[in-house]
Amino acid sequence: MADRILMLILDGIGDRAVEELEGRTPLQSAETPNLDHFAEIGENGLLDTIAPGIRPGSDTGHLALLGYDPYEVYSGRGPFEAAGVGISLGSEDVAFRCNFATLKDGKVVDRRAGRIKEGTKELAEAVREIELGVDFDFQHTIEHRGVLVLKGEGLGGGVSDVDTHGSEKGYAKAISLDDSKENRKTAELLNRFTEKSIEVLSEHPVNEQREREGKPPANIILPRGGGTVPEMEDLKSKDGLDAAAISGITLVQGVCALAGMDIIEVQGATGGLDTDPDAIVEAAINALDEYEFVLVNIKGFDISGHDGLPFQKIEFIEKVDSSLEPLKELEDTYVAITGDHSTPVTIKDHSGDPLPLTIFGREIRNDDVKEFDERACGKGGLNRIRGKDLLNILKDLADRTEKFGA
Ligand code: ZN
Ligand code: ZN
Repeated sequence: MADRILMLILDGIGDRAVEELEGRTPLQSAETPNLDHFAEIGENGLLDTIAPGIRPGSDTGHLALLGYDPYEVYSGRGPFEAAGVGISLGSEDVAFRCNFATLKDGKVVDRRAGRIKEGTKELAEAVREIELGVDFDFQHTIEHRGVLVLKGEGLGGGVSDVDTHGSEKGYAKAISLDDSKENRKTAELLNRFTEKSIEVLSEHPVNEQREREGKPPANIILPRGGGTVPEMEDLKSKDGLDAAAISGITLVQGVCALAGMDIIEVQGATGGLDTDPDAIVEAAINALDEYEFVLVNIKGFDISGHDGLPFQKIEFIEKVDSSLEPLKELEDTYVAITGDHSTPVTIKDHSGDPLPLTIFGREIRNDDVKEFDERACGKGGLNRIRGKDLLNILKDLADRTEKFGA
């Protein structure tokens, strides 16, 4: 009988030697009895999500872990973000991530509009009323963030960002990245959208109220990260798997949704440090009753990495470790635990450092590794592999592949 597959992605788990930790990584420094147990009963290795030395985003990293070639399917973050909030996307649509921002005297003075929380629903409604000349959808996601999808024929995804964070003015006219008609059309529409967003938002009662309260008004929308919706074969036809995903972040939900996976919402799965890993693990175990393959993403490690906080990262690692206890009871399942990229506290961003990987399940050829971390796992039987091979390895272990040849 074929086994089930669980892929547990600890987002940003990998790190480097940290001086404050006497040259250890946060994962090496943390007390992780459960992860160490899984390494001890499992087969271990190091994993380069895309390729050695390549710094993955969470989107391209997850694409690779699901067996897609990110260089082929990835043209920008926008479409994945849009799919993650459940916008239905056509294959010729172009999607962007957006911020509500504050414009004053022609300059963006706050590109998050004071991390606006109230009134965004009303503002988004007003934005959807804009006359653009083509169909589009705009959805608010959380705080100052949203997504814009331009629909219609003959659009391209190769345009520059309107949001130019860091520059003097803070926003710019989008321009086509080549001289294709499609990209020029998108740039024109995007510029029209931005100008109209200023018109409808400036006079909106929500913003008049904010100004009376001394809060920065959300009076412009800044699109960025545009891309055309990728054509991706879904996991059912690519791998023959009924699959589901659990993640608190829309970007990862979007990657999984475009891979044809069902998205399971878990109460308390926030994608932050306050997430509820007990609830996530319970939901994952339940999902394995229904699905052949379940991917779980837990994000907090990445946040501590970006903020450069080794002790916070250690604390979060220990919190998640203690929630993994119920995985010991799993039967007829192969479990892989790894990450989508390293987020070293020393560089406060993603890096190309390989990730620890352990796989366990009933017939695994376990090795001598007894600890789950970046150094110990390197001595294991899996050696060093690439992300695109992981799902094949798991499918083979679970007896879910066809023979190649006679
Ligand atoms: Zn990530
Ligand atoms: Zn990150």
